[in-house]
Amino acid sequence: MNDTVSVRGLKRTFKQGETIIQVLRGIDLDVRQGEIVALLGPSGSGKSTLLQAVGLLEGGFEGSIRINGEEAAALENDGRTRLRRNALGFVYQFHHLLPDFSAAENVVLPQLIHGATRAAAEERADALLSSLGLAQRLTHRPSQLSGGEQQRVAVARALANRPLLVLADEPTGNLDEATADIVLAEFLRLVREEGSAALVATHNERLAAKMDRVVRLHDGVLE
Ligand code: ADP
Ligand code: MG
Repeated sequence: MNDTVSVRGLKRTFKQGETIIQVLRGIDLDVRQGEIVALLGPSGSGKSTLLQAVGLLEGGFEGSIRINGEEAAALENDGRTRLRRNALGFVYQFHHLLPDFSAAENVVLPQLIHGATRAAAEERADALLSSLGLAQRLTHRPSQLSGGEQQRVAVARALANRPLLVLADEPTGNLDEATADIVLAEFLRLVREEGSAALVATHNERLAAKMDRVVRLHDGVLE
């Protein structure tokens, strides 16, 4: 089995006052090595909740999440953090870049945390950002970049540590349609070049159709 991620019977409920909301009602999902899967569903259907669970950003779920063969549900916090750092990369709708650091440093820092040397981290940041057309933007701060450029930096950061799986939550949702198309195409190209798998949440059918496979979230289960 070379599944990068294998999710079985994943359930997530939230309590709002007296009401219990069942958002995920038993999700089964496999993402294979290098596969790019679109997670399609309307707003409020639970896409972000599912990505947060698979991203090991939140406990509180029932079921099994195996990442690279390791059962996340069985891990303590330290183990989850290690697995997250080693295997996963994240892109969000809003870039979440560090505002006081340059584009290059935003891609260098996660590599240093991961144990890379500064020289190697800078070389990789330069290569990733250049591949995304940002060779002339390395020393710019996020606020000096356009929205599309900011998301490109976020893409480079997500791939910096060569993750098995990139989790992307509406990665172009904050961009105008033309820019979203270009940035998504670049994101998909780079993920493929790097050999990572990706799970990409979107409510946009047209964007979802550009990926290898589409799964639809409906009433808390995948169709
Ligand atoms: P999507 O990303 O598809 O728009 P979400 O995963 O953000 O959907 O939300 C799915 C449902 O779960 C929504 O009804 C939302 O209100 C609810 N929800 C998400 N996070 C929480 C939370 N921390 N507490 C309570 N309800 C939540
Ligand atoms: Mg969401």
